[in-house]
Amino acid sequence: EKQELRLLKDLPAQTSDGCLFEMGANIGQPGDIELAMENGAEGIGLFRTEFLFMGRSSMPSEEVQFEAYRRAAEAANGMSVIIRTLDIGGDKNLPYLDLPAELNPFLGWRAIRMCLDRPEILHTQLRAILRASAFGKIKILFPMVISLDEVQRLKAHIELVTLALTEEGVAYDQDCEVGVMVETPASVMIADQLIKEVDFFSIGTNDLTQYLLAVDRGNENISGLYDSLSPSVLRAIKMVIDAAHNAGKWVGMCGELAGDEQAALVLAGMGLDEFSMPASSIPRVKKALRKANTPTLKHLAEKCLELRSSDEVKALVDAVASV
Ligand code: PEP
Ligand code: MG
Repeated sequence: EKQELRLLKDLPAQTSDGCLFEMGANIGQPGDIELAMENGAEGIGLFRTEFLFMGRSSMPSEEVQFEAYRRAAEAANGMSVIIRTLDIGGDKNLPYLDLPAELNPFLGWRAIRMCLDRPEILHTQLRAILRASAFGKIKILFPMVISLDEVQRLKAHIELVTLALTEEGVAYDQDCEVGVMVETPASVMIADQLIKEVDFFSIGTNDLTQYLLAVDRGNENISGLYDSLSPSVLRAIKMVIDAAHNAGKWVGMCGELAGDEQAALVLAGMGLDEFSMPASSIPRVKKALRKANTPTLKHLAEKCLELRSSDEVKALVDAVASV
C-alpha cells in the first residue's frame, strides 16, 4: 500500500468525473515544506507561525520573521503559502509577553485579540510577511475572528503597513490574498458578511468543534464528546462553504477534519475547494477522492446533513466508501 500511495504523489486530487480539489499541507516551520512536497502537497494551506515565537526569551525581530517567511515562500517554489498570524494565548503562552493568567484562556486574550491590542506585534509580523510576499506566493490568514469590526481593523493595519512599505520603496505583492479563519461560531453566523471583506476562508475545525460544542479540545474527560462529524459541526461547515461560494470566493479547511479521508468525502460533496492537513495524510485523502465521483459525493453530503448523529454519518460514509 505504501508503494501505491507514493505513486499518487504527482497525480491530482481529482474525482473520476474530473472534479478537482486542492491538497495543501499544514506546517510549523519552513523546513517542513520539503516533506509536504514529497507527499504531493500543492500548496501550504496553513503555516502556524507560533514556533517562531516559542522557545525564545524575546520577540523575534522583523528581520528574523522575514527570513523565515521568505524561506518558506522560496521553498514552496511557486506554490502558495498561507501564513497565519500569531495565534498565541489559549493553551499557548509566551513567557516574554507577560500575558496574565486567565480563568478561561480559550475564551480569553488570544490570537488577533491580543495582536489588535498590541499593534506593534501585529505590525512587525505583517511587515515581515508582506516583505516576504515579494519572494513567492504568500497569503495572510487571521485566526479567531468573531466580528466584522475585527476584520476591518486588521485590514486597516495591512493598509498602514503597505503604505509604509511603498513609501520606503520596499517590494511586496500588491495582490497578496487575505483570508479569515472560520473557527468560532460567531464567524460562521456572519460568514456572509465576513467574506465580503476578504479573498477566502479557511475553516479551522479544531477550534470550531471546541467552541460550537462547548467541549474543551484538550480535556480527556470529555474527549468522547469532541466530534467534528457531529451534525451541528457539519451544518456549520456547510453554511461557511455556501457563504463563500455565494460571494464567488474559495474556501478551504485547515483543521484536522480535512485530513480524515472519510470526512473528506463529505467535505468534497459539500463543495470544499481546498484541503490542508499534515503532509503524511495527503496521499490517503487523494486516494479517497480519486476513487469517488461528484454525484455520489454530493448525494452523500446532502444525506449527511440530515443525519442525527456522528455515528450515523460515519456509518453512511463507510457504506459509500466501501462500494
Ligand atoms: C483549528 O483550530 O482548526 C486550527 C487549524 O488551528 P489550531 O489547531 O492551530 O488552533
Ligand atoms: Mg485554531
